[in-house]
Amino acid sequence: MLPPIANRFVAGDSPAEALEHVRRLNERDVNGIVNLLGEHHDDRESVDADAAEYRRLVADIAGSRLAAAVSVKPSQLGLDLGEDVFRTTLAAVVDAAAERDVFVWIDMEDHTTTDATLDAFEALAREHEGGVGVCVQANLRRTRADLRRLADVPGKVRLVKGAYDPPADVAYTDPARVDREYRDLLEYAFDRYDGGIGVGSHDPAMIEHATALHERHGTEFEIQMLMGVREDAQYELAAEYEVWQYVPYGDRWLSYFYRRVVERRENLRFALRAVLTG
Ligand code: FAD
Repeated sequence: MLPPIANRFVAGDSPAEALEHVRRLNERDVNGIVNLLGEHHDDRESVDADAAEYRRLVADIAGSRLAAAVSVKPSQLGLDLGEDVFRTTLAAVVDAAAERDVFVWIDMEDHTTTDATLDAFEALAREHEGGVGVCVQANLRRTRADLRRLADVPGKVRLVKGAYDPPADVAYTDPARVDREYRDLLEYAFDRYDGGIGVGSHDPAMIEHATALHERHGTEFEIQMLMGVREDAQYELAAEYEVWQYVPYGDRWLSYFYRRVVERRENLRFALRAVLTG
């Protein structure tokens, strides 16, 4: 059982609980991106176990006809054991998902993993002609060039501000500078991409910017937010735009929960309030 403090941000221990959460989201026109919590596996057994769970999950999603995708972390699928392990494991998950027409997102971890993650994404996206997406981080100085590289690759790209804490030689560390970068990168993507843009942000200013760019260019996009964050806004936006909620599940919730609290201390207050009010 999950401790009550995690309930706001994590759908439960089991895939069944995550899919039940997605079913309730779908009733409100919000789609689900299901993530099995887990990262930095340093043994093959854990990597293979999580990959097998993702393969079962995509079969369950296809069987349930839910509007749902999955999202995986490179270090969950073996990147810490080597790029070859990661690419083989990821390919097996993406193949299983492609057979069932389920979309696979690849989360982006710290800046030392960006090359390996983008290379694996590009190879699979070209092989499957889509069906897979990757996250890029606006706080990294390299991301402008990465967006240019990805412009003619099939699949989707999720733009986020960045949840890790990279050093200043590779990243912008001032939040206002990251916001400016996020806006510029959105402008580039809406101008140059055919579609497939994921706006992964809770920031009303960034979402407003994206919707204005959509009006101007007509480029297709989706808004993505996390479970437990601005959920009322998610339901409101879903009346007009495609909205996806990132839905984590599993018992390895601590580091995910910690990242949410570091991002915004209020998240701890929200979580505690949820515990106190049942
Ligand atoms: P912030 O800059 O944190 O906040 C800006 C404004 O948004 C706030 O002033 C407030 O108005 C509003 N806001 C933000 N949080 C809240 C809240 N809890 N309650 C109410 N209002 C709030 N990062 C990665 O590095 N790799 C990934 O793969 C990745 N995947 C992600 C997937 C999704 C779907 C999302 C939504 C985020 C993901 N992130 C990922 C995290 C991301 O990088 C940011 O750390 C996180 O989204 C916080 O930035 P923000 O744009 O939401 O807004």
